Amino acid sequence: MATTQAATPWAVLLCKFADNNDEPFPLIYYRNLFTSAGVGLSNVVDFFRVYSHGNIDIGGSQIFGWFTLPETKAEAYAKGRGQIVDDARLAAAANGVDLSAFWGVLVCTNVPFETFGVQNGRAAVADSLGTAPRILAQEVGHGYGLDHSMADGVAAEYQDRWDVMSALNAAWAGNPTFAQVGPGLNAANMAARGWLDPERVWVRTGWFDEQVTLRPHHRRDLPGFLVARVGPYYVELRINEDWDAGIGSPVVLVHRLDANRSWLMASASGQRFFPPGAVFERTDELANGMPKAHAEVVNIDRASRQATLRLSYQPTIRPLHAFVLPYPVKLGQPTKVVVKATDGLTSAPVQGEVRLHSYDVNGQAVDVTPFPTDTPTIVTLRAKRIFDPETKKWTDFEDPTGEVTAVGYSDTVLDLGY
Ligand SMILES: [Zn+2]
Repeated sequence: MATTQAATPWAVLLCKFADNNDEPFPLIYYRNLFTSAGVGLSNVVDFFRVYSHGNIDIGGSQIFGWFTLPETKAEAYAKGRGQIVDDARLAAAANGVDLSAFWGVLVCTNVPFETFGVQNGRAAVADSLGTAPRILAQEVGHGYGLDHSMADGVAAEYQDRWDVMSALNAAWAGNPTFAQVGPGLNAANMAARGWLDPERVWVRTGWFDEQVTLRPHHRRDLPGFLVARVGPYYVELRINEDWDAGIGSPVVLVHRLDANRSWLMASASGQRFFPPGAVFERTDELANGMPKAHAEVVNIDRASRQATLRLSYQPTIRPLHAFVLPYPVKLGQPTKVVVKATDGLTSAPVQGEVRLHSYDVNGQAVDVTPFPTDTPTIVTLRAKRIFDPETKKWTDFEDPTGEVTAVGYSDTVLDLGY
């Protein structure tokens, strides 16, 4: 791995309001939730190890408390929600906790109050209803600078059901220890934090048109690429297991990143997820009306955790293959020929135009009237003839030529067998 782990331990401060002595969970619950003691249970440590591609490790977090705050719950509301973090810090310091040893502070209240994260603030509050990783990963994510995820064309936040930063609109999964976990964090949000392992991101510069295989974007344990870039877009595979167990069918997702937010992209028909066969395309004025960014889901194989994608950028240069039957074309007599053209990557049929160049009986170049591919057409092709004045003889050079053109593809030479 190219990445190095940054230890960012949090101090978890368990706090009671002055008017309530409840303890909603035993201490072991909090240890399992937020320290290395609970790694493997799908706890918050696991989440950030996985979705930071190993860049962030909060496993060294520690649990402190219970402490009793000086205020009642009603008084805490009256102070404003941000104040409770400062009050919890004071209560911890008064009990001998050295907070300077910790990267962040998580305050857990003993009764329902409010659950929130402080954007870029290295702080979050989880009330007694807000401790599931489904919610807590999002609030702690705010502490690292993550914002709520968006969908292209929609003004409201929380529009990406495959992203934990869409909070209650996201597709969570059941968990025996913490009740609710997931879903994962999308690749654009990971990129925004510098968490994508660059060695696992497929990227090309300039124009390209290639077939690419992707793994689920959190599976660093599997070989191959985890994320692909097509121009400004991040392409990722999501499989309905692990943190994503609640998403339903396996899908490919496309995001862009803008203003520190991920934007879930839609197909031309408005669908924001891409099952096998689906195509994401965007055009712009530089592409002469052709799709500039193109991501087509050729196949998703859930069993092998792989998606096969055709990714292209400025695909006016898509490769074309063509062949003629019969091959070689007979010379000197009317012959019925048919020319087939296929996409150079997918072998899908392509409609195009065939141009053949022949010679007349005197050896002069002539062009055959163009005709469409897939259409049997009778042509007469003749060899090139050259008269040698010394020997007074005609010599045949069998070099009729041809090419096929198709909109959106590079021209291709048609091999006539000569
Ligand atoms: Zn939030």
